[in-house]
Amino acid sequence: MDLIYRSTRNDKETATASQAILKGLAGQGGLFVPERIPRLDVPFEELSRMTYQELAYEVMKLFLTDFTEDELKSCIRSAYDKKFDTPGIAELVKKDGAWFLELFHGSTIAFKDMALSILPYLLTTSARKNNIKNEIVILTATSGDTGKAALAGFADVPGTKIIVFYPKNGVSPIQEKQMVTQRGKNTYVVGIHGNFDDAQTGVKKMFSDPELADEMDKAGYQFSSANSINIGRLVPQIVYYVYSYVQLLGRGEISPGEEINIVVPTGNFGNILAAYYAKNMGLPAAKLICASNENKVLFDFFKTGCYDRNRDFILTSSPSMDILISSNLERLIYQIAGEDAKKNLSFMKELNEKGIYTITDTMKSRLKDFYGNYADEEETAAAIRDMYRETGYIMDTHTAVASAVYKKYLSETGDLTKTVIASTASPYKFSRSVMRAIDPAFDSREDFELVDELCRLSGVKIPQAIEDIRTAPVLHDTVCGKEDMCKEVKRILSL
Ligand SMILES: *Cc1c(COP(=O)(O)O)cnc(C)c1O
Repeated sequence: MDLIYRSTRNDKETATASQAILKGLAGQGGLFVPERIPRLDVPFEELSRMTYQELAYEVMKLFLTDFTEDELKSCIRSAYDKKFDTPGIAELVKKDGAWFLELFHGSTIAFKDMALSILPYLLTTSARKNNIKNEIVILTATSGDTGKAALAGFADVPGTKIIVFYPKNGVSPIQEKQMVTQRGKNTYVVGIHGNFDDAQTGVKKMFSDPELADEMDKAGYQFSSANSINIGRLVPQIVYYVYSYVQLLGRGEISPGEEINIVVPTGNFGNILAAYYAKNMGLPAAKLICASNENKVLFDFFKTGCYDRNRDFILTSSPSMDILISSNLERLIYQIAGEDAKKNLSFMKELNEKGIYTITDTMKSRLKDFYGNYADEEETAAAIRDMYRETGYIMDTHTAVASAVYKKYLSETGDLTKTVIASTASPYKFSRSVMRAIDPAFDSREDFELVDELCRLSGVKIPQAIEDIRTAPVLHDTVCGKEDMCKEVKRILSL
């Protein structure tokens, strides 16, 4: 029998996995959650002998039950290939008493590649399964990183086009270069005269324009989104937590049944939620350690049970965690509310209207798997510097937040459980902040001098993604007014 997905805001709204992937978001802003979390049904010893791709199949088939074996294996094969610069897809390296699970070996050298490399295939397979003949047009507004990861994931995937809008003067020069050099016959990158909110608003307007949808349909197109709340992004993220565990088992670092702790640098709560799902599947995980930067909404939430977004938004050196509303937390709220959509809906209404809600004591008692803490900018820089001096290993700023929080956890609890730290980006992606942390004098250097210096210090080869920025030709130079975004989409699709 197929695993059914339900909306967190309306338990009458259900979908199969492929329908949930196609829809992305449920009605009334709800998120799709599996009706139950499936249990891993292959012994860990057996899993420990599998490749990443084989393991991915064993995990994902339990969630995507309406995909055939051939369909799912084909998605996995297309996603986890030479785009990754290591045959293991993810790497596990031990430094300073913890294992760093490097999730940045994909084409944009950050962990979003783990899911965005497979989402396009899950999406086109889902379309086929549901008899959708239209070509899928991914429409995204980006403030930088997600846009590039989505472009790389969808580039040249048959049956798709991807159009990314970014604020022409609102992303870093490196981020812009990454996007405008994107290859692929089906990729379109458009700068707008406006800020990120303008881009976001323009995209949302197009998504909810029935006339445009009609015109698109007649021409054989329909929109979809690559948003991080799609279960097609969540499910692939469960795989690497299981992978890290069975790797440790296979190497004899842990004994069968031994529990591990997992530390995750968190923004939208998607990555750590995947770890929680892995635990619920039967992965022997003890504590899930949620690491925040100075935007510490989640730290406060785990401490007090009160989620409060009414505070200043702080720009930090770990920008992918600069978030005040962690969308995926809703899935956890729904679960600890006893899978009660009405109750969840009332919290989300409060969040929407007042920016704040407080969970009940019973709900709070169900959060014992989690520990939350945060690292400020100085602590983050110190973590990078100290790790480099002691081991020669260089962490990116996001991973450094996690590492600093892990140190706090250790000194608070003395818990010596073996620990995996999700390492979410290559240091090359944030060379300036990383090098500045090691020595403030580096700050006067040019971007690519810093890249070369980082290579010299770390001994880690400069990734292709960085070399590309240096040398790749600009392939996209379209710029439009913020009121002309729809016109631009029509031009691209020849409507
Ligand atoms: C997106 C991102 C995060 C945050 O992950 P969430 O799933 O949003 O919690 C952390 N680090 C990096 C480098 C990211 O790109």
